[in-house]
Amino acid sequence: MTTETVTALEAQHVLQTYKRQSVVFVRGEGTRLFDADGRAYLDFISGIGVVVLGHAHPGLAAVIADQARTLVHTSNLYYHPLQGQLAARLSALSGLQRAFFCNSGTEAVEACLKFARRFWYSQGVTNRTAYVALEHGFAGRTMGALSVTANAHYRDPFGPLIPGVTFVAPDDIAGLEAAVTPSTAALIAEPIQGEGGVRPLSPEFAAAIARVTKTTGTLLIADEVQCGLGRTGHSFHYQSFGWTPDLVTVGKAIGSGIPIGAALVGEHVATQIFAGDHGTTYGGNLLSTRAALYVLAQLEALKPHIAEMGMLFEQRLQDLQRQHPLIISVRGAGLMRGLELAVDAQPVVDAALKAGLLVNRTAERVVRMLPPLTVTKTELEEAIGVLDGALASVKVKGSTVEMRA
Ligand SMILES: *Cc1c(COP(=O)(O)O)cnc(C)c1O
Repeated sequence: MTTETVTALEAQHVLQTYKRQSVVFVRGEGTRLFDADGRAYLDFISGIGVVVLGHAHPGLAAVIADQARTLVHTSNLYYHPLQGQLAARLSALSGLQRAFFCNSGTEAVEACLKFARRFWYSQGVTNRTAYVALEHGFAGRTMGALSVTANAHYRDPFGPLIPGVTFVAPDDIAGLEAAVTPSTAALIAEPIQGEGGVRPLSPEFAAAIARVTKTTGTLLIADEVQCGLGRTGHSFHYQSFGWTPDLVTVGKAIGSGIPIGAALVGEHVATQIFAGDHGTTYGGNLLSTRAALYVLAQLEALKPHIAEMGMLFEQRLQDLQRQHPLIISVRGAGLMRGLELAVDAQPVVDAALKAGLLVNRTAERVVRMLPPLTVTKTELEEAIGVLDGALASVKVKGSTVEMRA
């Protein structure tokens, strides 16, 4: 198997919805990935914030293998020994009483959008069906999640989407107050907008969201798919704002690579949801819940490490900013970081890949970094060194950027 044979076969038979980097990873170990030619890379994107324990984690591999030998899947027709345990653990972390298990972040968003409408409908309020979402926000690509995703590039080819969604700029408090009306079922927001360019909500705007949703009774859905579960040092990033959301989405990190998601539901909402209202064949099966229980058990012990590495990461990125006028801002929290550039981020991402560091471009001008939460100080320093070189290799010419020969 070579890079050429793999890419040629994909080009023929895989639907071309992704613009992939020209590299085939065949093996991983901790923060390292190895390509088909045996070359090592430092992985600072970790499957887009998913592989939080690092690649081929021996403990996770052991519990997955053990569960695979025991029982993988039985469906949601029957009780199983692990869903209650995982739901209780998520409840302890979030303060929300119940969990609905699904297979991805998008499905968690879909579930929350449905539960929010059901909450009002169950109480005989049939006109609260609208949603408020934020500009630069991302919630997924299915019809519902896409309807509360701002990016026109993702939306426009697929209309008409769910009607009654109003987008508010994430610093426009007056706009927020105007957008939430008596017909609003719920407001959905990412505490740190990930795909939108690693943009944390300002404390003022976060406080306005809490106030407006509370005074109008509008349900608050915190989309924690990317920023949640330790990524920023908090169990959930909304906790840093003092929010008490009614619904919370969980995805990406929870299985460290085994697909699982969850919608966390406050008890006042849960009492308005009934058997048959929602469901999934795979959601929370034995294999994925076993993996998630293991991941969450590791998370608590990792928190001091995340705090320490997050602080170091921020300092080093700020050092880079002082050396490279190309960097407009260093954004994010903990181990969720973005470098906002004055130019398109792709040449920097490409140069980093060539030098053996995986990062990604989002919102055009942002270099996004989501390393495994187990990343070491040495690996952080190494990544900063590579970024330094990658930034130096692109020079600004007017508004265009080109690689130096
Ligand atoms: C990635 C993401 C989603 C979608 O999750 P998938 O696992 O891709 O379905 C939803 N919301 C946010 C904030 C995300 O970052």
